Amino acid sequence: MKISSSPPSPQISKAINDHSNTSIDDSLLISEGLLFIRPLKVTHIEHFNMPITNIKTILKSKNIPNKYRCRVRVVDYIPRKIVNFTRPYCTVCKKTFEKSMDNSLVCCNRCKSTGAKIKYAFLFSLLVEDNSKCFLPIIIFEIDKSEFLGLPATDLKNPKDFEELKSRLKKLWVFKTVSDNYCVNENKKLTLTHSRTILCGNIFDVCIERYKNTQGIRQKVFDTRII
Ligand SMILES: [Zn+2]
Repeated sequence: MKISSSPPSPQISKAINDHSNTSIDDSLLISEGLLFIRPLKVTHIEHFNMPITNIKTILKSKNIPNKYRCRVRVVDYIPRKIVNFTRPYCTVCKKTFEKSMDNSLVCCNRCKSTGAKIKYAFLFSLLVEDNSKCFLPIIIFEIDKSEFLGLPATDLKNPKDFEELKSRLKKLWVFKTVSDNYCVNENKKLTLTHSRTILCGNIFDVCIERYKNTQGIRQKVFDTRII
């Protein structure tokens, strides 16, 4: 199905609404025990009148670039360490580079710029899923400050900045420890307990732009902020 960028024409809007009504039922839809009901207010999006498109439809669409509103939850993220969610950004080269965790002078490895020519940027990717059981990596790339997080971009070496970031991300997901019991003999006298940590994502709405660059097809977050 072809989906236009905002604003959709009335006919397309109706078609999309009909489609989303069949794919997402706010009151009833269950995905592996997870209710994709109207989410708790986790994010504010600018385009709340935009219909919800599921990931399966987005992946099938050949209409690139395009903009969508999705209802998703986080299942994974990269980089692995939250402290690496920001990177130094060279305003001359217009590229980010590796962060060093020692206190050496921050210097662009391409043009050797330092000082005010170097800013910080949030650059990380969230792997999200929705009720269509498909996955989509979405990129957050924001220089100097993040509208999505409502935070300034820093090197995150100050524990206060790091804690603030973690507290913002907690709105999207938390880690929980679950225990599984295994009976190891027939009369159930001996059980083993195995604990594991799982990522529990909250359902939230997000606006994404799908585009193509030299590396392939990407999706980035826009006009969305965590409340
Ligand atoms: Zn540079």
